[in-house]
Amino acid sequence: MPEGPTIYAVRDDLKQFEGQKVLEVSGTAKMADLDTLQHDTLTIVRSWGKHLLLTFGKRTIKIHFLMFGSYRVNEERKAVPKLTLVFRSGYVNFYAGQVKWLEDTPDKVYDWSADIMNKKWSPSKALKKVQAHPESMICDLLMDQSIFSGVGNIIKSESLFRAGIHPESKAGEIPLPKVKKLIRDAKDYTFEFLAQKFEGTLSKNWKVYTKKKCPVCKEPITKKITGKTHRRSFYCERDQKLYD
Ligand SMILES: [Zn+2]
Repeated sequence: MPEGPTIYAVRDDLKQFEGQKVLEVSGTAKMADLDTLQHDTLTIVRSWGKHLLLTFGKRTIKIHFLMFGSYRVNEERKAVPKLTLVFRSGYVNFYAGQVKWLEDTPDKVYDWSADIMNKKWSPSKALKKVQAHPESMICDLLMDQSIFSGVGNIIKSESLFRAGIHPESKAGEIPLPKVKKLIRDAKDYTFEFLAQKFEGTLSKNWKVYTKKKCPVCKEPITKKITGKTHRRSFYCERDQKLYD
């Protein structure tokens, strides 16, 4: 599943169509009145965590790539698009994933301060939300999109390694400076992820994710399904302290 930075990059790519009218619209997405989008102007392209948001005046389309979603600009894949939007300067196709109308305006649906890549991201609010779940494992809280929107499995594993925290640590047992460091590390790594993705060096820079050996102590990396989210975590038993 693409993580926040990937969707952020899609958002940047699609900004080229902002301010342009939809000349043609089609696709297999089951959306009421999709054809009425023709002649509407794409006013703004935004992202919130793993959601891509295309706003046309008062209406917004939400795209969630899920496991197999993809998109192409001025190019076609062999698959049938869920949504095709044709503009004066080019077109975009979305494949698989989930494409639907957002139930309300983005400002009403989304808490921008929870999106780790948003200008309105609030580390202090994230800290308060983490502290509200002292019994939860930190690996689960990092994946909670209402706290760290945009964080996925890769960012989870890499930022826990940087902060030196074992993924199965209980949130309430982790010392405050360590939690604050984790929140900073998660944001910093997310932006490094974005830059490395552009450079094509993302996986080369992973310290623990899918790795066999710890870059610090050279001992084997543990791979384990952790927490209530039952997602894979990669970590070093020696360099990441278990607080429980
Ligand atoms: Zn180690």
